[in-house]
Amino acid sequence: MDARIVVLPGDGIGPEVTAEALRVLEAVARKGGHAFHFSEQLMGGCSIDRHGTALTAEALAACKASRAVLLGAVGGPKWDDPTAKVRPEQGLLALRKGLGVFANLRPVTVHPALIDSSPLKADRLQGVDILVIRELTGGLYFGQPKGRDVRDGHERAVDTLEYFDFEVRRVVELAFRLAQGRRRKVTSVDKANVLESSRLWRQVASAIGQAHPGVALDHMLVDTASMRLVVAPASFDVVVTENMFGDILTDEASVLAGSMGMLPSASLGDGGPGLYEPIHGSAPDIAGQGVANPVGTILSAAMMLRHSLGLPAEAGAVEAAVHRAIADGCRTKDLGGSLQTSRMTDEILRRL
Ligand code: NAD
Repeated sequence: MDARIVVLPGDGIGPEVTAEALRVLEAVARKGGHAFHFSEQLMGGCSIDRHGTALTAEALAACKASRAVLLGAVGGPKWDDPTAKVRPEQGLLALRKGLGVFANLRPVTVHPALIDSSPLKADRLQGVDILVIRELTGGLYFGQPKGRDVRDGHERAVDTLEYFDFEVRRVVELAFRLAQGRRRKVTSVDKANVLESSRLWRQVASAIGQAHPGVALDHMLVDTASMRLVVAPASFDVVVTENMFGDILTDEASVLAGSMGMLPSASLGDGGPGLYEPIHGSAPDIAGQGVANPVGTILSAAMMLRHSLGLPAEAGAVEAAVHRAIADGCRTKDLGGSLQTSRMTDEILRRL
């Protein structure tokens, strides 16, 4: 396997955690005789400082020409002014749009040895293994019209929740494909009792469900789903939902695992490069101290091996090495331990 991979370390702890994931990818390449060609580009605050924009056309072109993109995180207090014209998150939005990644995958599992780090009671967390898939390029965040005007003497703001059937179909089909390799259950989350867009979503999901008799399909209202995620998280397998519902539910689900530093994500489109990043931000409060947990980024690299590089056995080996390191008591500060970022990776590499 020969693949070009673009690395966007970003800001804060981003460069610290991406460096560790690269060590793991290099080890995978060495063991399997693969050639991964890494090239680094700027995105976020570091790009604003250098080029005056969060993502240059050249950096985006390099990402588009790659097999996969590994991202740390962007942002920080230096660029935090919400009224600024140029902001780090603009890089993220431009990148997602440029790569055409319409599905954001966030697996949430709770390691048995970390159950006590979670705010939920241990008995609720036994067997939690959820894959939340959030639609990423449509829905309430992108529907038109949106904006402000004055009507009947009052200031008015409008956002529009808009979906085309094909946008729902491609993300729900992905959910069914991925459910086939898991526990064969899809929960499609909507608000079909109120929203017309949700009724279209449900209609499309039902048709896809009929074409996949081997996978169970369940429709659930988003308010019920948000409650079930904390009351009975182990009852979910694959969850698929609209952009804003997914934004909220993925953050809710991430709390189950105990630390933000543990969880990976992947954003996928139609065969183009995938985008892989931990779910956490740039953590300016701990940047530069060498204490960040690299596991979320290392597991994101494992997702890259599985979804973009066609190396599922290697992906499983990385996940198993992380699992064993945690089971053996290896802990960074966020997990109540004292291992430095690179020492945590050493422990994972030793078990790979
Ligand atoms: P954050 O995720 O950066 O940090 C939240 C808390 O979790 C902090 O206490 C931090 O120290 C801790 N934490 C996060 N990742 C960790 C890790 N790997 N190991 C150990 N502890 C970790 O969220 P925030 O503080 O709300 O945001 C900080 C900056 O990151 C902001 O500028 C925000 O806009 C940006 N952000 C970027 C992304 C992204 O690039 N995708 C996502 C979220 C936030």
